[in-house]
Amino acid sequence: MTMHAPLVDAPPRRLPGDAQSFRPVLVAMERCKGCGLCIDACAPGALELDMSHVNAMGHHPARLAKPDACTSCAKCARMCPDAALSIFAPPAAARPMGA
Ligand code: SF4
Ligand code: SF4
Repeated sequence: MTMHAPLVDAPPRRLPGDAQSFRPVLVAMERCKGCGLCIDACAPGALELDMSHVNAMGHHPARLAKPDACTSCAKCARMCPDAALSIFAPPAAARPMGA
């Protein structure tokens, strides 16, 4: 049997000091059932369903549509019944002073 790595909306590798390319949310797209609970939980409205993609289960998965709006609060990840979201803290260079 052939095993396939899960399709993941992976944050790009970033170089030191490269805060611009940081993506704070990683979506395991093949595990997402498109229920939208994470989208409802996100106050800044950073998430949306990716209507251009259908995963192996036949769902439009969530994606991070507005990376700059995300605060890494992880409310979306706590809401997801399928543990399909991973949240990353912003790099030190991108944090507000004192955070
Ligand atoms: S970590 Fe918080 S701000 Fe970022 S997408 Fe999830 S709920 Fe929205
Ligand atoms: S809560 Fe989880 S399963 Fe539901 S849309 Fe968001 S990432 Fe997908």
